[in-house]
Amino acid sequence: MGGSFKCPGCGETTWGALTHCPKCGESLTRKCSGCGGTWRYIYADDYQFCPSCGTRVEPAKLGR
Ligand SMILES: [Zn+2]
Ligand SMILES: [Zn+2]
Repeated sequence: MGGSFKCPGCGETTWGALTHCPKCGESLTRKCSGCGGTWRYIYADDYQFCPSCGTRVEPAKLGR
């Protein structure tokens, strides 16, 4: 698979194993505040709970 997915920062369509958006530099990974685990947007752009520990994860925010 490994299809395209949208950058959470600028909406640019990205693809493959990118960890950061080539257009705006936004991180394409999400991090759990509970266990510190990370996962890529490409797999779960709308996860609301950490797949590792079940902690509620805040929706993507622009700018940090
Ligand atoms: Zn971007
Ligand atoms: Zn977690």
